[in-house]
Amino acid sequence: MAISGTLLSRLKDSSLVREEMLVGGSWREEGASGKRVEVQNPSTGDLLASLPSAGLEDVRIAVDLAKVAQKKWASRSAKERAAVMRKFYDLVVANSEDLAVILTSEMGKPLAEARGEVAYGASYIEWFGEEAKRVYGDTIPGHQADKRLLVLKQPVGVVAAIAPWNFPSAMVARKVAPALASGCAIIFKPAAETPLSALALAILAERAGVPGGLFSVLPTQDARMFGEEVCSNPTVKKLTFTGSTEVGRILMAQGAQKIMKLSLELGGNAPFIVFDDADLDEAVEGAMLSKFRNAGQTCVCANRLYVQSGIYDRFVRKLAERVSALKVSDGFEDGATIGPLINGEAVAKLHSHIDDAVNRGATVVVGGTRDPRGGTFVQPTLLSGATKEMKVAREETFAPLAPVFKFETADEVIELANDTEFGLAAYFYANDLRNVWKVTEALEYGMVGVNTGLISTEVAPFGGVKQSGFGREGSKYGLDDFLSMKYVCMGGIPA
Ligand code: ADP
Repeated sequence: MAISGTLLSRLKDSSLVREEMLVGGSWREEGASGKRVEVQNPSTGDLLASLPSAGLEDVRIAVDLAKVAQKKWASRSAKERAAVMRKFYDLVVANSEDLAVILTSEMGKPLAEARGEVAYGASYIEWFGEEAKRVYGDTIPGHQADKRLLVLKQPVGVVAAIAPWNFPSAMVARKVAPALASGCAIIFKPAAETPLSALALAILAERAGVPGGLFSVLPTQDARMFGEEVCSNPTVKKLTFTGSTEVGRILMAQGAQKIMKLSLELGGNAPFIVFDDADLDEAVEGAMLSKFRNAGQTCVCANRLYVQSGIYDRFVRKLAERVSALKVSDGFEDGATIGPLINGEAVAKLHSHIDDAVNRGATVVVGGTRDPRGGTFVQPTLLSGATKEMKVAREETFAPLAPVFKFETADEVIELANDTEFGLAAYFYANDLRNVWKVTEALEYGMVGVNTGLISTEVAPFGGVKQSGFGREGSKYGLDDFLSMKYVCMGGIPA
């Protein structure tokens, strides 16, 4: 199988796409499983590339070689590690257009969004490269006259990572950058739908001088095998996972056998609340960004829009105008704002949510029917009159569907917003300072956007509470997940 000619013709550097996987510093055309991972363009259905599917033996080799590479990497000075990461960052920036093209090809999102994602991912490599030099320990005044107490921060060692398909590039950077900065090695399993972005970043890491074995990329059809192996292999000290709560629960149970260190970034069901005193235009703008970015396929996407009764009708009218103006198309078309959904299941889930809401009394204001383009293209949809009995209130739709609920008081909406097992992101628009504090503190979420629909940045801690998981990505807190704390007590020191 050859790599898609259309994809190659769009690239300046065609060597960024390889039909191979990276196992412990070696590029391999065949995996131990003998199977293939076929990567398709979700906009056209075209086959982009056929990759080897990693088998158990490949995972074990990657883990063993990561152990050797990690020891050497951790013994280098933080400044040396930072210099390699800076080079990696520079190469990602220099190749960002090609990386965006690869991303749009395998995942479908509009090219403008893909460019944004690549830049966002790069910012994690830059940030953590800089933070590598600031992994400070601590000294503590001794509890006895002859004692000196110290706290060391050391890399956890070999880390495994499992990522989803919705941010095929940024997810790599968010996990690989803190691992490398803290002196860890990483075995990365991308989603089978979108492995090309991860492999392209591994190519650039290699060019930047990231030592062989430190960063392996193993696409596989057998995600379960990968999860079971990294959760039981004693050399793997930590797992960082982004994906569904359901799979997070499985991995947590598997990791329990060896009391594995985990970071889990799981599902969300974000409320987006608009109070009567909000700036209407800003709230509509925020809702568009938060709800429709990536066709609604992000874990921090607004899933439920709660609008106070005094502003409700005007909000729905304005939002309807904006939703009607979205352009559904192949991500490579000029002006595209909504690409295809990732697969048929995602389309079926969207329609089941719309049908359920309509059957229970919601009104379709925009969209609602199938998109004429067919495939996995869908119409962005706005529903008014949503209520808490509907599926849209409880489940993450993960599609461009905005259900609008009406509420009267702050206490009522706080209760509705928290009435979910998830706790990743929440948003609200309001201007009364006392209300802003009250709502901010009452929301049971890991992240709260106040008068903004966009909260993600490498300098802030991204992560959830409740069944949205634990651990943080980005910011000074993000390194802690890759470090072990060692308390040292030195005694017998003469006065
Ligand atoms: P999504 O619905 O976003 O695809 P999943 O949780 O199913 O979320 O998938 C996220 C990642 O987890 C993907 O890389 C997928 O291959 C992987 N995965 C799915 N099931 C398992 C499993 N049982 N063990 C380990 N990884 C898994």
